Amino acid sequence: MHQDHCALGLAPLSTVARNSVSSALDIAQAKPVQPVTLVRPHAAARAARFFVEKFPGRSMYAVKANPSPELIQILWDNGITHFDVASIAEVRLVARTLPDATLCFMHPVKAEEAIAEAYFTHGVRVFSLDSLEELEKIMRATRNASDLTLCVRLRVSSEHSKLSLASKFGVPAQDAKPLLFAARQAADALGICFHVGSQAMTPEAYAEAMERVRAAIVDAAVTVDVIDVGGGFPSSYPDMAPPPLERYFETIHRAFESLPISYSAELWAEPGRALCAEYSSVVVRVEKRRGNELYINDGAYGALFDAAHIGWRFPVTLLREPQSTVRDHPFSFYGPTCDDLDHMAGPFLLPADITAGDYIEIGMLGAYGSAMRTAFNGFGSDETVIVEDEPMVSLYAEVEREAASNVVKL
Ligand SMILES: *Cc1c(COP(=O)(O)O)cnc(C)c1O
Repeated sequence: MHQDHCALGLAPLSTVARNSVSSALDIAQAKPVQPVTLVRPHAAARAARFFVEKFPGRSMYAVKANPSPELIQILWDNGITHFDVASIAEVRLVARTLPDATLCFMHPVKAEEAIAEAYFTHGVRVFSLDSLEELEKIMRATRNASDLTLCVRLRVSSEHSKLSLASKFGVPAQDAKPLLFAARQAADALGICFHVGSQAMTPEAYAEAMERVRAAIVDAAVTVDVIDVGGGFPSSYPDMAPPPLERYFETIHRAFESLPISYSAELWAEPGRALCAEYSSVVVRVEKRRGNELYINDGAYGALFDAAHIGWRFPVTLLREPQSTVRDHPFSFYGPTCDDLDHMAGPFLLPADITAGDYIEIGMLGAYGSAMRTAFNGFGSDETVIVEDEPMVSLYAEVEREAASNVVKL
């Protein structure tokens, strides 16, 4: 379990160094004893602009992917005005950071007290649900409010995604009709939402989910005002290079246009990972080498939960100057705690001459990395530094370069 102080990543702002340095290599050359989180505001800003400009509907940021107030502010500054929150602490965090933002409470199982506080104190009007019990709870907590947008979460398949979200939430098709009907009676606006699972590797995932939406609408014969396609938009990792995001957007747009819904219905999405994966990385030190195993100073209880528990492979680079010319070799990592589980199988490809005292940058930790750090066993560090170099991988840098060269051509 993650400790309170870090479960929401609510690190004090003061831990972010205000003097920005240019690159990951600069950090390594300062020889930090603790792991250092690097943040790249320009990468998050670019991702936000991409979704704002290209997604054919409204993009709201799923805060759980990375609840850093600085990141939330960057997304807002670049056009993201709506935020998908899932707990009362996330509601309070975004309300405090961005008083003018619109919050949507998209966890289908909420505490009644959380609903009441969200509605009466923070002005939240959008709620998701996947059962009649939750609908009753929302109506009770809001004293039968008449200004609600209620989004019924449908169960859809996660088969195209690297991380399933299919078993816990979502009303099964056979139970959707009475729930849609009851929500329609209670709601000012009725939505249907789903989540295809995180890191969906093909746009087909959304096409198939939209077919389930169609069947549910036809079966229940209700008027639907919002279609929310959830998260799942991928980022790029070793051996997990997805098709261009524009293909996802085209597939979703086509499916949306063909649904039996009113002309004025809105299309929403809740990207988490895709908006923040490139935002941060971590610089770690190799404390020991044992054959093909590197003992590093961050791990499963730090920013590398996914690397340890679901075998996620993150990109890595050796930060050494002059650069090693030795060929790459597959390594696994041990984290710093005394726990055998603190092991990241990888394989992580690094120059074969890597040794204790070397520094490694582990990339793409902006989503579900930084957010999950703990201080278990006395390890981990809040030290965060802004850098201006490019993330190790980017889905957006190329798009930005192309756009710039088109301007020149004109
Ligand atoms: C986690 C989550 C998201 C974000 O998912 P990504 O795969 O990171 O895009 C969006 N909506 C809901 C309801 C979620 O639980």
